Amino acid sequence: MENKTCLCGSTEYVVFSCSGACDLGYVTDIVARRLRDNGVRKMSCLATLGAELGKPHDELKKKNILVLDGCPVDCGKKILEREGITDYKYLRLTDLGYKKGETPVNEEVIGKVYEKAEVIF
Ligand code: SF4
Repeated sequence: MENKTCLCGSTEYVVFSCSGACDLGYVTDIVARRLRDNGVRKMSCLATLGAELGKPHDELKKKNILVLDGCPVDCGKKILEREGITDYKYLRLTDLGYKKGETPVNEEVIGKVYEKAEVIF
């Protein structure tokens, strides 16, 4: 894998995944964990933000945020925007052509979504 960007200070790069129960939510969760494991972004808990237990938003707003949502219900996006966070990068899996309830959670799908997410800065 080509190193596209210096990741010094990578804790400034954060990913939230909707981590929903369906196939596409599951894929967002796996991809977010892979981004974390590869040192691309720090994974933060969307549930913590939803429960209003997260860090002060002023601190979060300074970070480069990527939100992964599975489908147009847009749970991740809505939670961030409810909290007044509007400056973030975004990837919705249905926009890549995947269908909710019809997508196998396998390495081929995970790898393709990961490739898209990894280069979003
Ligand atoms: S965005 Fe879609 S897939 Fe993700 S948690 Fe919400 S309903 Fe489920």
